[in-house]
Amino acid sequence: MPSAAETISLPGAMPGTQRQLRVFSFGDPGARPKAYLQAGLHADEPAGMMILRELCKLLAAVEESGEITGEIIVVPMANPLGVDQALNSAIMGRFELRSGANFNRAWPDLVSGLADSVRKRLGKDSGENVDLVRRELKRRIAALQPESPMMAQRIALARRAYDADLVVDLHCDDEALPYMMAPDELWDEAKRFAADVGVHSLQPNGDSSGAHCFDECFAEPWQALAKEFGARVPLACQAFTFEMGGVLDVDPKQAQRFAQGFLRYLRRIGCIEGAAPRHRANGLNEFRAFEMLDSPAGGLLLYRQKLGDWVSPGDVLAEIVDPTAPDLDTEPTVIKAGMKGCVVSRRLSRQVAFGDFVVMLAGHKRPASGKSKSLLA
Ligand SMILES: [Zn+2]
Repeated sequence: MPSAAETISLPGAMPGTQRQLRVFSFGDPGARPKAYLQAGLHADEPAGMMILRELCKLLAAVEESGEITGEIIVVPMANPLGVDQALNSAIMGRFELRSGANFNRAWPDLVSGLADSVRKRLGKDSGENVDLVRRELKRRIAALQPESPMMAQRIALARRAYDADLVVDLHCDDEALPYMMAPDELWDEAKRFAADVGVHSLQPNGDSSGAHCFDECFAEPWQALAKEFGARVPLACQAFTFEMGGVLDVDPKQAQRFAQGFLRYLRRIGCIEGAAPRHRANGLNEFRAFEMLDSPAGGLLLYRQKLGDWVSPGDVLAEIVDPTAPDLDTEPTVIKAGMKGCVVSRRLSRQVAFGDFVVMLAGHKRPASGKSKSLLA
């Protein structure tokens, strides 16, 4: 067992509905670098939870052999509030049912006024400046009001993540290849990380302005200060989101493989002693262009392409069959690719409604026409 498995009580909306957040800690508190990894912020996305469960086992073993030099915090199931919401046996873990709020949107703004609040106290030593900013971030998080169960849960997670050098948020898609998302500023580091973990591709964060996802909450303060003060305040937090495949990707062997990948990267950045093996960038796709295809009709969904297949403009990706069409020779409605790309994500259910998302293509060049959406975990 790890040296510390902390149980945090979270208030429920009504008496007797308290919930618990389990936080696993490895290494000495305050040791650097500090890594924070969580899964299940969208509580119906189980793939990452399985991976972090396996990662905890690996970390317990390396801690046992005295190899942990930094501090590593793991929250394998970051959303007890969401995982306990269900409708007709299906977990409703993306939105809080009480408020309708997405669990991975509208995280607290730690940026506004931050530069002004530290400006006069910044010195020449960048390390001291980082400490100063972290103290200021701590103060801001301490001032947040737990005005609802959801906010109390957010504060509990933020208190453990805000001062980490590395923040990792694991999600999964409906049915997808595993991929990592990163902002442009962190692209080169993300390539090393993605290669270590062994995901299929690296994709940009997309235009999430205003969405304010979990990872952005902790990276944005540093990006804003670096813009204002240059090298005096380095980017002291690198935050990334992974989509670890789809909701059916709960497989112990696959999870162990990915957990080994995360462990490899934690070794690479010095959280664990020993040299990480040379990274293998082989096979990692870097995608910059996307096409999201929605269904033009309701009906039964038949795929003509598999995940990982490459398609060209005009190729048929899926057919929609209307089982009630009076003419029994009616041709199915087709969904065609608008760009050259790889099928990286698709709808799991084989029933689809008019307007529902069906397939995401990822490639290198945007379609001449058609819809291109931003990616958001
Ligand atoms: Zn998600």
